[in-house]
Amino acid sequence: MLDDAAKAMVTSLFRDYYERIDIKDSHLKEREFGFGDFEKKISFRHYSFSNSALLKKYLVENAPAFISYSPAFYQAPAARPMERKGWLGAELVFDLDAGDLHLDCQKQHSKAWVCGNCLDKVKLETIKLIEDFLIPDFGFSSNEISINFSGNRGYHVHVNCDPIYQLKSKSREAITDYISGKKIDPDRFFPSIGKKVVKLSGPKPSDPGWGGKIAGEVIKNINGGVDALMAIGIERKIAKALDAKKADVIFGISNGNWDKMAIPKKDEFWKAVALKISQSLGCAIDKNVTKDIHHLIRMPETLHGDTGLVGKIIGSISELEKFDPMRSAVVFNKGEIFVEAEFPYKLTIMGNEYGPYSKKRVELPSYAAVYLILKRFAKLAI
Ligand SMILES: [Zn+2]
Repeated sequence: MLDDAAKAMVTSLFRDYYERIDIKDSHLKEREFGFGDFEKKISFRHYSFSNSALLKKYLVENAPAFISYSPAFYQAPAARPMERKGWLGAELVFDLDAGDLHLDCQKQHSKAWVCGNCLDKVKLETIKLIEDFLIPDFGFSSNEISINFSGNRGYHVHVNCDPIYQLKSKSREAITDYISGKKIDPDRFFPSIGKKVVKLSGPKPSDPGWGGKIAGEVIKNINGGVDALMAIGIERKIAKALDAKKADVIFGISNGNWDKMAIPKKDEFWKAVALKISQSLGCAIDKNVTKDIHHLIRMPETLHGDTGLVGKIIGSISELEKFDPMRSAVVFNKGEIFVEAEFPYKLTIMGNEYGPYSKKRVELPSYAAVYLILKRFAKLAI
């Protein structure tokens, strides 16, 4: 729980921020809004605003800790229950969170903490979603895809184009199954499996979708040598044999011939490799966010009540590559605040390092103080 003095201080900073910004959203009046306090991300919902001036007025008056809106568009977004809202369609959204990546660093630091590695890895995962799936496999163009920082430890990706608005929950779930690489059936890529033919034919790297990804990854790992092959689950003896016949095997797979080297139980062998690859190349997206057509998600450019960072809109993949949340999403640049801080890590923000601190009274720049207070690693000092 935040104490009252901290709540009042942060709320006043949040209010100043909402006074400064202009909110633009072409679907604003069709969206449902939900708001949260410092204890709960969405404590009430079913709000709507007919224009951005009214939304801004609400945000300045109330300075909520969290502001979420619906990727769905409704005839009457404030109506309840849900059935009375008149669902018109919904953006396709993806939520990527460092917490879903099961990183080694997360065994070293508390769940609430976000380190540089967490942020780097979730950024790569977001780039993978767009560059390996949304653009090549689904055919979305980059101007139909918008990206924003979540404000804490991840990114949100919104796809906006007519054909996807009407997709029902089941179709959205099928999209998440495809992208996550779960439920991929390797039999599909090896048409000769189970048939009495001599040659095992399979996918080529130039094939669209998962077939091409699997073939490309196998070739990459053959080129990577014995260790790389073992990393995709191939036992050392066979990895060595594949490595020795490298040129021949790669030439074969490049042309859809997976039988350039004799492998015992070859059908089962390559199916197992394909399965392992599909699981590792899949993207860690939160399935429930994508499939729930009534979900509320952080409104871009609003503040995150657990960090004080902004859910910054990022214009393009090349901007995402350069994006440093602990600098670009910082908004409280003025002044210093005294806190009593306690955490065993190093906080890197705006290029400076703070901590570790052991019950230390310290004067920090506002952005660092707010971040630590909202993460519950510091208290406002009196
Ligand atoms: Zn980490």
